[in-house]
Amino acid sequence: MWYEKAMRARILPLVVIVSSAMLACPKSKEAGRAKVDPGPVPKAVQGSLQHRPVIDTHVHIAPTEITRAVGIFDEVGISWGLNLSGLWPGGPLEEQLAAAKASGRLLVACNLPWFVAKKTKDFPTIAVHMLEDAKKLGARALKVEKGLGLHHKNPEGKLMAVDDPWLDPIWEAAGRLHLPVVIHTGDPKAFWLPVDENNERLEELTAHPGWSYFDDKEVPSFEQLLEQHINLVKKHPNTTFVSVHFGNNSEDPFWVADKLEKYPNMYVDIAARVPEIGRHDPQKVKDLFIKYRKRILFGTDLGIGQEQFIMLGSFGEEPNKREEVSPFFKAYFAWLEATGDQPSPTPIQGRWTIHNLGLPEDVLDDIYVNNALTLFGPAPEKPISSP
Ligand SMILES: [Zn+2]
Repeated sequence: MWYEKAMRARILPLVVIVSSAMLACPKSKEAGRAKVDPGPVPKAVQGSLQHRPVIDTHVHIAPTEITRAVGIFDEVGISWGLNLSGLWPGGPLEEQLAAAKASGRLLVACNLPWFVAKKTKDFPTIAVHMLEDAKKLGARALKVEKGLGLHHKNPEGKLMAVDDPWLDPIWEAAGRLHLPVVIHTGDPKAFWLPVDENNERLEELTAHPGWSYFDDKEVPSFEQLLEQHINLVKKHPNTTFVSVHFGNNSEDPFWVADKLEKYPNMYVDIAARVPEIGRHDPQKVKDLFIKYRKRILFGTDLGIGQEQFIMLGSFGEEPNKREEVSPFFKAYFAWLEATGDQPSPTPIQGRWTIHNLGLPEDVLDDIYVNNALTLFGPAPEKPISSP
């Protein structure tokens, strides 16, 4: 295949590890998309934290770590997950798909090798071929990492905008192939601000100084990136976009609601942004979640990599510990289901109180299960073994 030649020519170095937050893809929606049979609703995982079925649409699992992932799914009650770190054909999407299939608990999104864009003018064509191959192999979405917009360059050596028209064939192909585009643009707003005691992510930025963009002249502003992101969604109405981390603007959930209203091809997940969304007026957030219940997906940004690596939305100087996993999921579930207040589930991102939403059962069903089945279904084939 073309990419094998490209790899021999060293255009495509083989990238093997996929642990932290940088990949994705989804599919389908009401306007102009063929409906896919979502298949049966999964069962609740017996003996877990949850008595309902839950699908986690935002996980990053290395192909060698599937057994650990399934152990976590069983403990916390995840029926199945969407692995946003599938990479591309030959790189090793096939390995990810095979591991996912054997587990019966994961679907896989492919990614694209954006670093190739600076090496050849043919990148959009190459990417479209990759998407076609990925679809044939069984990928259920395309995940686009935040590097698009922040770092990746074109053959002229210029930073590519998220909505760069040169890349339009990729988004059109994703729409045609019914591969939803799960896309991360930018980062938390605080990463653009001075790293001092006024920065609400001081603890996280102190642990990871390289995550700050303050004074980085190479990187567009938070607002510019959001504008590019929304323009992309607007320009491709026949392509479904899952704008991760609550529309990539969790600091302002009501801005996100306005975009959901305007663009029916836009969906959002809540991954790694419960602290930001949860600090707003709970009644207003609850109303928003009820109104857009068909467009909001459950996701956590659980990352599982080699050498016992665990990430729960973010991490400090050390990766998360195994015993932190259940409390983290419990807090996510409680935020959606319970009433009252609780501490933020990701203290490294800011230590404030969040207000639980107490969503109705039928809304929980949409957010936990139905929307994921609509976009990425059908569910993995192997049924969960349950008593
Ligand atoms: Zn992620």
